[in-house]
Amino acid sequence: MKAAVVNGFQQKLEVKEVEVPQAGYGQVLVRVKTCGVCHTDLHAAQGDWPVKPKLPLIPGHEGVGVVEKLGEGVTSLKVGDRVGIPWLFSACGECDYCLTGWETLCQHQLNGGYSADGAYAQYCVAPAAYVARIPDELSDVDAAPILCAGVTTYKALKVANIKPGEWVAIYGIGGLGHVALQYAKAMGYNVVAVDIHSEKLELAKELGADVTVNGSETDPIQAIQEQVGGVHAAISVAVTRKAFEQAYKSVRRGGSLVVVGLPNADLPIPIFDTVLNGVTVKGSIVGTRKDMQEALDFAARGKVRAIIETQPLEKINEVFERMEKGQINGRVVLTLD
Ligand code: NAD
Ligand code: ZN
Ligand code: ZN
Repeated sequence: MKAAVVNGFQQKLEVKEVEVPQAGYGQVLVRVKTCGVCHTDLHAAQGDWPVKPKLPLIPGHEGVGVVEKLGEGVTSLKVGDRVGIPWLFSACGECDYCLTGWETLCQHQLNGGYSADGAYAQYCVAPAAYVARIPDELSDVDAAPILCAGVTTYKALKVANIKPGEWVAIYGIGGLGHVALQYAKAMGYNVVAVDIHSEKLELAKELGADVTVNGSETDPIQAIQEQVGGVHAAISVAVTRKAFEQAYKSVRRGGSLVVVGLPNADLPIPIFDTVLNGVTVKGSIVGTRKDMQEALDFAARGKVRAIIETQPLEKINEVFERMEKGQINGRVVLTLD
């Protein structure tokens, strides 16, 4: 089969023939149709984070495909079912986190396209218990970005714990951010969209942002404090420390900053302001299988729809180059057929 492979960090991916994997016990073999390109895949290929991925690695955790073969013991799926390969590739199912609906915090989890091979390939294997079920209403292309960008931002909004009618700022209107904004609107929040590229803010306006701020021209902290008196929650999905610092300072008293983007940087929090303003800072990592079902349901009902550019797998290195420069508007989805 054809796959895009990371052989070493900071190197171009190699698109080459590799062996089709075998579905083990409890796993299914999936014939991949599409896979979204998440900035996490770029972090993986560059070895950006303290915890490194396996090497060689096939990235991809927004994979959509069809079950082609069932491994031993699989009873919950049948050949021909449409499934998604997510970041939460597997978890132990038995620890405190798994038992309390926080399987995304399981210390024994594997991650698709990071510690397990993902969907930048014509085939991949995944545990039947953790693949997503793709609703009939969604095409293979439209479903892909929901599997990470969608579920992650939907969960981050839940974690933000705000009420309809309150204000949320989304820092970074990229792959995650442009979907975050749509979930936020669908959930009844008022949205401030912040980015440093004007075409992303144009998109944000089209998608219903109530206020847009170009951080390369205007100080977003001042703009947000002046125009809406600070937001009830800020979600940073940008890949730069500056956006996190600004997001923190955009929050009103009693509000929260939800940390989602993953630049390899520290976020210094001023103790005095945090205490006196009663600010919460919280991390949020993807979403559970239940969150995934809900996030997909929003999309199936047409309330959220990613803006998508499709590219063949062979173009992955060019896509990564553009992503690094912030030149992708919406999400790129790779096609494998
Ligand atoms: P992306 O490259 O598509 O989008 C990043 C956006 O941030 C771009 O639109 C860019 O213009 C914007 N940006 C850059 N500097 C900015 C600034 N100073 N202020 C405002 N906006 C700015 O990336 P993506 O695929 O959306 O992923 C974003 C981040 O989220 C990555 O670090 C990724 O690894 C991380 N991520 C986290 C989770 C999680 O579960 N926590 C899940 C998926 C992705
Ligand atoms: Zn992702
Ligand atoms: Zn567990």
